[in-house]
Amino acid sequence: MSVLEDLLVVQEHDTVVDQLRHKKETLPEQARLREVKQALAALDASAAEVGNRRDEVARRQQRHEDELASVEDKIREVEKRLYSGEVSAPRELQAMQADVASLNRHRSDIEDRVLEAMQEREPLDAELTNFAQQRSGLEAEADQLGQAIGEQVKEIDAELATELEAREAAAVSIPDDLLSQYERLRSKQGGVGAARLVNGRCSGCHLTLPATELDRIKRGTPDTVVLCDQCGRILVH
Ligand SMILES: [Zn+2]
Repeated sequence: MSVLEDLLVVQEHDTVVDQLRHKKETLPEQARLREVKQALAALDASAAEVGNRRDEVARRQQRHEDELASVEDKIREVEKRLYSGEVSAPRELQAMQADVASLNRHRSDIEDRVLEAMQEREPLDAELTNFAQQRSGLEAEADQLGQAIGEQVKEIDAELATELEAREAAAVSIPDDLLSQYERLRSKQGGVGAARLVNGRCSGCHLTLPATELDRIKRGTPDTVVLCDQCGRILVH
């Protein structure tokens, strides 16, 4: 096989390597995983905001409940004295009864505030439960995507290793200067540095070469390096 035919084999492997690398970087699962991660971040931000509001309401509810407990203690204390028989002065008994009545009104006010806080908290708790459910759904999807990506990357890496090995084997017989010329052309010409000449036409740029140029190629040896005068690629003739 001529050196140029070997170069074309290198080109074929390089093309497959490029395709495999592109495939690895553009897995649809990878794009979906980015979306899922963004959704998770947005969900966490919303959950943190709602969680702060819920905590604030819960603290308020706790304050009212503590206050309620202390008022109830006071009521029990006064009632205990009131019914203990220790106090007999009517004025004092009257004052204590008035005290109990006032404490009971206060208790009723606090109970209303506890109830308000509970009602305010309920939809926030429901929202947080909903966020948690969404989160676990997205996390499960992220796990599945991660696994699918891992498996595909493993497969692609194995194919890449095989291609690169075959590429190295094909490149052995190619002189260094030709190989580096090819590499330069490849990086300039969208990954294709060598193209076959088919029926007088460069398969890199699909333009037909002038008859004089074709004549010149015919007169050379199979290893003569000829560049396409349109695109500059190495022509395999
Ligand atoms: Zn060309």
